[in-house]
Amino acid sequence: MQALSFDNTFVRELPADPASGPGRRQVHRALYSRVEPTPVAAPRLIAWSREVAALLGIDPAEIESPAFAQVFGGNALLEGMQPYAANYGGHQFGHWAGQLGDGRAITLGETINAKGERWELQLKGAGPTPYSRSADGRAVLRSSVREFLCSEAMHHLGVPTTRALSLVATGEPVMRDMFYDGHPKAEPGAIVCRVAPSFIRFGNFELPTSRDDLELLNKLIDFTIRRDFPDLMQADGADADSVRAEWFAQVCERTARMVAQWMRVGFVHGVMNTDNMSILGLTIDYGPYGWIDDFDFDWTPNTTDAQGRRYRFGQQAQIAYWNLGQLANALVPAFASVDALHAGLQRFVDVFKATDRANIAAKLGLAECLDEDEKLMQDLHALLQDAEVDMTLFFRALSDVDLAVPNLAPLGHAFYDEARRERAAPAFEEWLVRHAARVRSDGMPAGQRRARMQAANPRYVLRNYLAQQAIDRAEQGDNAGIRDLLDVLRRPYEDQPGRDEFAQRRPDWARNRAGCSMLSCSS
Ligand code: AMP
Ligand code: MG
Repeated sequence: MQALSFDNTFVRELPADPASGPGRRQVHRALYSRVEPTPVAAPRLIAWSREVAALLGIDPAEIESPAFAQVFGGNALLEGMQPYAANYGGHQFGHWAGQLGDGRAITLGETINAKGERWELQLKGAGPTPYSRSADGRAVLRSSVREFLCSEAMHHLGVPTTRALSLVATGEPVMRDMFYDGHPKAEPGAIVCRVAPSFIRFGNFELPTSRDDLELLNKLIDFTIRRDFPDLMQADGADADSVRAEWFAQVCERTARMVAQWMRVGFVHGVMNTDNMSILGLTIDYGPYGWIDDFDFDWTPNTTDAQGRRYRFGQQAQIAYWNLGQLANALVPAFASVDALHAGLQRFVDVFKATDRANIAAKLGLAECLDEDEKLMQDLHALLQDAEVDMTLFFRALSDVDLAVPNLAPLGHAFYDEARRERAAPAFEEWLVRHAARVRSDGMPAGQRRARMQAANPRYVLRNYLAQQAIDRAEQGDNAGIRDLLDVLRRPYEDQPGRDEFAQRRPDWARNRAGCSMLSCSS
């Protein structure tokens, strides 16, 4: 760990809040506040990601040492770390919310690895900051387990995401009213160390514009392009306006790719507020997210969203577009003309469509997606939703269907309800016949088609109830469930013999259990 070298550009190049420490305040004309993690009673390592450790060049032996838990539990700083909390605003559930900021996230520093890559290390749950408002700056074990596991699971699925290095128990209780029903209880606290090239969000740009601070806005744009989009600077003959235009278009493009991949694997973010949208198009801020069990475009995991269902599975692309529209509004004063912003938004539409079509082809085992294949997929979605069918199991087993005699036999285990399966069987069989005909006309060799389908349709995803089982065990002091799950989720597209228990339908007991079907924002 002592070998980690830091190059803290954010604090070096951008304006700081002149005050320091965690006192709650409105922070003007500054993009961050210096604040240190608040020490905890008894930091203890629960889990860590070997891939992220390798990425950072941290020796596994060091990770198991008490010194590691001290640093990543917030009790000690390494040389070169310069902790800060970022200042940003955001639109929450469609409404401008003003200053939000890192209320419980503290960046420790930007480390440069052996390959010269920049990785920012950020603790979540390390204590109050100027942006904590009335909250405590802490995080409970259950939400930290969920963030830790999902960050890594998404990476291994090939979905752009922030990463997670470590999960450390604080040894301190945190009070939370999980059901918002006036019955707070003490829960174990924990801290995740998140890792990403940048944690800049749409909301970082929205806040200065909302305050008419165009100087600050321009500084942040220049910084972001320079640090996080360096390739744009190297384009020949690029003038400042066209660099900014292409930058915004790339943000739109990355966001489109990210959401298209969420749709492919059945991930529902749950809180797509603009403060939870990464400028790098990474999935960020794992809160009340969820995974689709039975296919349902209308499902939202977030209890706070149960009424309006703004952040439901099937609406994520529209919301991402709306969020990019808010970012575009914030950028208007820094752009020579709004045409570039419109062009960027159009890039979202085009790239989402193209990525979605590529996913359709891969999921259905076709070399390319024709217009009629979009219809084929839409019809399948409608069938899956009507008959209550497990998304992951169905797509994974689709390559097992015999094209000569297409029938539901290899897919039966994906149905949640026997009566509905029987009722829907003829319609499904008709669909399978259509699919088989299309696969034949497409003409890809069988082995190649199967491999293509299996690389797009994971066998293992972080089902809500699996995460909850690992949490239940961890709350009893048994961390093996977290480690086992992490290990399975490392290779989501491979059949892993002996691990069938991780690739099953959601059991009945989990249908309506908190944490397994719906999640509150309390975390
Ligand atoms: P979220 O939508 O969960 O990403 O959070 C929205 C805002 O609330 C962000 O500014 C967070 O930093 C802040 N926040 C959430 N939980 C806490 C907490 N326990 N302590 C302080 N701030 C928090
Ligand atoms: Mg957030």
